[in-house]
Amino acid sequence: MEKLLCGVDLGGTKLSVGLISTSGRIHDKITVYDHVGKDEITIVEQIIRLIRQLISQNELSESDLRGIGMGFPGHVRYMDGHTLTTSNLKGFKNFPLRQAVADHFKIPVLLDNDANAQAFCEYKFGAGMGYDSMIFLTISTGIGAGIILDKKLYRGITGTAGEFGHTIVNSDNKQICTCGNEGCLMACACGLALPYLFKKKMEQGISTSLPLPDNFDYSQVDGKMIKKGLEIDDPLSKAIVIECADYIGIGIYNIFQVFNPPLIILGGGLTSWGEFYLNRIKSKFYKLARDMIFDKIEIVESKAGRDAGLIGAAALLMQ
Ligand SMILES: [Zn+2]
Repeated sequence: MEKLLCGVDLGGTKLSVGLISTSGRIHDKITVYDHVGKDEITIVEQIIRLIRQLISQNELSESDLRGIGMGFPGHVRYMDGHTLTTSNLKGFKNFPLRQAVADHFKIPVLLDNDANAQAFCEYKFGAGMGYDSMIFLTISTGIGAGIILDKKLYRGITGTAGEFGHTIVNSDNKQICTCGNEGCLMACACGLALPYLFKKKMEQGISTSLPLPDNFDYSQVDGKMIKKGLEIDDPLSKAIVIECADYIGIGIYNIFQVFNPPLIILGGGLTSWGEFYLNRIKSKFYKLARDMIFDKIEIVESKAGRDAGLIGAAALLMQ
């Protein structure tokens, strides 16, 4: 029997552990949500317990697995498997997560950033199949990216390459990013920016046809609410989507100029804003790139689905 891969996707809201085949199929998985708010040691114990549970409920033993690949929502020092920072989980600053899990198993364990894991899943099994190089951009509460160059994930000296959300696109923007800077792409064009944009547009006199509750406060504005706004042709929601799309268009243009990739894949929750949003991103990009595109560049939506982080983390073991 071909050995299975074990994937762990440690997120800010959910923790998934899965057994994955080398063709990217989920053999079995367990997802929990009760890790939120717990400390690092407790979460490590939970991960170990879930892996053991998965092995035993499938009547396997550890030696039936090729290894354990983990994805983490924050900066990771790839070589030593330390988590550096995260804004999605309590603690985990300079924490030796890979070793903490590896101490309990005899098989190889690796740790990478979650956007890298998702990018690798797209490259192996999703919209990036058949390409040697591609950039994956995920746009949800935050913005992250993964860079595949010549069939390899590019991580940089630390492992933090692809932190594309922190590239600065508008230094006049007053919304402060999670990193402390003003004007990061993340502070202009993702879930994090939506309350700020909603308030700004209202103060500019743009009205909304969205029904706002009596106790409305701007922190309640999220991607789902703006999607609803788009569906009812709300002028304020549309104005926000246009502004976000234009910034992502600028971001993609910057990616294009740095990497000249044949493919850029867009994923993450905000892509559910649909055609209006995606077309606006592309039109902004093509407007900026003008006559500087000499070979075809594809800009497409992610195909790997909701478990991309889990499957990708496992697939990294096949590198
Ligand atoms: Zn930033």
